[in-house]
Amino acid sequence: MLFCYPRRIMFEETMQLSHNDMIVPFQLEQSALRGRLVRLGTTLDDILCKHQYPPPVARLVAEAATLACVLGSMLKEDGIFSLQAKGDGPVSLLVADYTADGALRAYASFNNESLSTVPDRFCELLGTGYLSFTLDRGAGFERYQGIVEIDGDSLTKSAQHYFLQSEQVHTEIKYFATAGGPPWQVAAVCIQAMPRTEDIGDHDLDRIPDGWDEMIALLHTLTPLEAMDTALHPHDVLFRLFHEGGVRVHDTQHIQHRCRCGLARAEQALATLSEAEALEFSDDNIVEVKCEFCNSTYRFTLAEVAALRGAD
Ligand SMILES: [Zn+2]
Repeated sequence: MLFCYPRRIMFEETMQLSHNDMIVPFQLEQSALRGRLVRLGTTLDDILCKHQYPPPVARLVAEAATLACVLGSMLKEDGIFSLQAKGDGPVSLLVADYTADGALRAYASFNNESLSTVPDRFCELLGTGYLSFTLDRGAGFERYQGIVEIDGDSLTKSAQHYFLQSEQVHTEIKYFATAGGPPWQVAAVCIQAMPRTEDIGDHDLDRIPDGWDEMIALLHTLTPLEAMDTALHPHDVLFRLFHEGGVRVHDTQHIQHRCRCGLARAEQALATLSEAEALEFSDDNIVEVKCEFCNSTYRFTLAEVAALRGAD
């Protein structure tokens, strides 16, 4: 059985205010740059405790979940933002999705046997593949999807590469994580150039946004301790880093692990099965629907599945 660290009990004992599980949007008024500071702790424990991931896989899930918060919260449109990495390595799939109300979920598919044969390096774990970003705004809206080859030595670097090459937007993300958990703790600070209207049709990537080099240099002075110390208010971190850039913060978005699965969704999925498929998937007269994200299992008898088919 997996042991989940009692972070909340610790919190009550010490009575310290914990600035965690949040996204703090900000902009740098001396330049046309904006950013996000993300910290995740308990939320990641909740996501990772649902599975028994080997440490390298858990670290990738943590990074994917953090990037989903960073990038999903940068979008102007609300919806479900999904980050997916697919490769031919031992970790064949990484998925993290974020909704604008602060719900986060994530999971990984991996092959335990081949995992033990490769070094704990990003490119070896994922192998050759691609990283995709999807924004689903619901019925009646077109789905947005962007894809880039997995490249560089981390998921974060691949995401940066995507924004520069495909979106022509200068983006820099600094990501920090504890080596293991629980308790897990991660933090990320992202700076991105704001799209400029006069740039429409202009793909000149050599054009460095005003103030970019100075702000990136400041970003790289951020230490893991400052980024991940949950006793330190994120506003203080941002002010220390960027006061010369005229940092201005916006409303904080709190994050929690929340899955969108449920009985109704499981019923919807089963209603599409033919009688032969339902029989094939059944075991001892029972068909199970398992949510890959949160590991919840929904069980139905074959008679219940037949009734769902009839009701469809
Ligand atoms: Zn679920």
